[in-house]
Amino acid sequence: MVSSLMRYLPKTGSDICAFTFLLFSIHSIGIFELFIVLPSIYHSQSHATPTGGFSLYYFHVFMGFYIYFNVMLNLYLIITTNTSIKGRMLPSIIRPGWRFCAVCESNSPPRSFHCFTCKTCILKRDHHCTFTGNCIGLYNHRYYVSLVFYMCLACAYSCVLNFDFVYHLFGTVSVKSILTIMFPMISWIFYSGDSMTNVQVFMTSLCLVGFFLTGGLFVYHIVNSINGQIVHERTYNIKTYNLGWKENLALLLGKRWRIAWLCSLIKSPVPSDGLQYITREQYESLKTM
Ligand SMILES: [Zn+2]
Ligand SMILES: [Zn+2]
Repeated sequence: MVSSLMRYLPKTGSDICAFTFLLFSIHSIGIFELFIVLPSIYHSQSHATPTGGFSLYYFHVFMGFYIYFNVMLNLYLIITTNTSIKGRMLPSIIRPGWRFCAVCESNSPPRSFHCFTCKTCILKRDHHCTFTGNCIGLYNHRYYVSLVFYMCLACAYSCVLNFDFVYHLFGTVSVKSILTIMFPMISWIFYSGDSMTNVQVFMTSLCLVGFFLTGGLFVYHIVNSINGQIVHERTYNIKTYNLGWKENLALLLGKRWRIAWLCSLIKSPVPSDGLQYITREQYESLKTM
């Protein structure tokens, strides 16, 4: 079990560092919100509104675990899903749109590209994700977009909770308090808070930076997917596989794309075997028939 999981884990130095940082961020934010922020907010409020504060506290705890579960599930599914050409029946004769990969010494289907870190060709390869140490392709693209979405949601949720917490910490929203959150490294030079306050300020900053980073990533990848493009096709403005936003989303999130984003345990197979894709031209002619 451990050895089989080991082969999916990051191999290069930069991938290991990024993956460790990701795990550290997920768990430190989770622990910070659950054990420091929430008790500090609801400890002071529960005296005024015992029932309302109590149920709201458990609602936040439930939401926290729901988001954490989705983040870890998607991370697990990204690294364990085989989205490469390994194990696929590939033709020995090269077909139109295919190319020969000299490294894999096999014919490679359209939209697949070789990854020199993963040492294989990846089906509908979007990019190599350093933070998970794996390539993002046809079969794990859904989990990647879901991971980014739930991390962005976690950071946004934390920022809202933190606002209450920071207000309580500083007693007011001032230029000093905003600067401390935005630039903790600079503020620590001038700010004479205790070490616990510094940790709290650092965690609040991490949530804020995480929100902008994951938010930007999510928008970038969802726009590409709605346009039916992988990163390579966006770079070279290739629109060959743009079948309209509904079909494009189905290729990303699977046939049950309307609910698939709620949880990655929902079965939602992608309508492709990874070896051929319907082009816009073929799709248009099928519609007019
Ligand atoms: Zn290859
Ligand atoms: Zn890769």
